[in-house]
Amino acid sequence: MSKIDIPKQWRVERIEWAMLPGRRPREAGCNARLGVHGQNVAARIGRVTIGGVSGFGWTRVGREQAEAWIGRSANELFDEEGKVQREFRGFEYPLLDWLGRVAGKPVFRLFGSADASSQSPVDVPCYDTTLYFDDLHLSDTGAAVDLLKREAAEGLALGHRHFKIKVGRGARWMEHADGLARDIAIIHGVRETIGANGRIMIDANNGYTLNGTKEVLAATAGARLYWLEEAFHEDKILYEDLRQWMAKEGLNALIADGEGQASPSLVEWAEQGVIDVVQYDIFGYGFCAWIELGRKLDASHVKSAPHSYGNVFGNYASGHLAAAIAGYQFEEWDPVAVEGLDDSAYAVRDGIVRLPETPGFGLQLDDGYFARKREETGWLVGK
Ligand SMILES: [Mg+2]
Repeated sequence: MSKIDIPKQWRVERIEWAMLPGRRPREAGCNARLGVHGQNVAARIGRVTIGGVSGFGWTRVGREQAEAWIGRSANELFDEEGKVQREFRGFEYPLLDWLGRVAGKPVFRLFGSADASSQSPVDVPCYDTTLYFDDLHLSDTGAAVDLLKREAAEGLALGHRHFKIKVGRGARWMEHADGLARDIAIIHGVRETIGANGRIMIDANNGYTLNGTKEVLAATAGARLYWLEEAFHEDKILYEDLRQWMAKEGLNALIADGEGQASPSLVEWAEQGVIDVVQYDIFGYGFCAWIELGRKLDASHVKSAPHSYGNVFGNYASGHLAAAIAGYQFEEWDPVAVEGLDDSAYAVRDGIVRLPETPGFGLQLDDGYFARKREETGWLVGK
């Protein structure tokens, strides 16, 4: 039973799924591990109808699973607080959107602290996550720095103030020392472009060694990095060495990790103070699981920053956790325009996204377009 009053007789009537093509404003290049990420990103959208009300959101649930849920009582889907029960969490985004629409509340006001359930607006810091290795075709480091500075300036013009830079060029795509030198020059270039106030994060996608990490941190002390993400595959001994060295050098970038195939000990290490920011994926780990984890991390003063890239929906959904998790850091903003998906309730201004007061996740779907795409790419079960 949920705290939100759902009529007893309401049952899952219909579940639909479609893939909606989307496009980034600019192609995203390689990172330390992977090749070009490109410009095309699809939104995988499921929609549920219960009691004549529809909610939609990202899901990877397939037709067979959805079919088995037709006829289930709506009250079975949620716990007392309104979180989706574990069995249905693969479909939690459409269900949370639905619940918000039924309650007439945005998702963040279903789970927020007392503060958030007052009517004062909730502003969530976000960062521009688009600074990939877009420079690998350039042999001259000065030209590479200029290119990344132009990209950072584009982000500023779009309302961003905080930026994450992909680093680790020397792990795979460039010669080791040249790659490291270019990473360092680009970090300084981006700091110069964005000015003194914005946060800068770097993300090596596990492409650094411990010693390479130290070299980069020492050479970029003046750029005041906010966090260092996935320097190398998380390892308690290496991170402890890094922390001791940073303390001695007077460097205070936060250590962030956990997005990939994270160590099962990651949360424990975070609670022990080895890792400052936990980054489990907003979909792989999940929204309701994040509410639970975030509260636990809050109790140990560990920061939360769900990973979200290349999925469209995470840009909007992730920020709704900010009202429930005190240590929530940033929305990761990977802009993708998707036909049929109206995201006009969300805007980046001065490095902040103000969460919309529209019920559910605050996005709107073009019914006719969704139905066409469902016929081309997806499925429908129920009536
Ligand atoms: Mg990352």
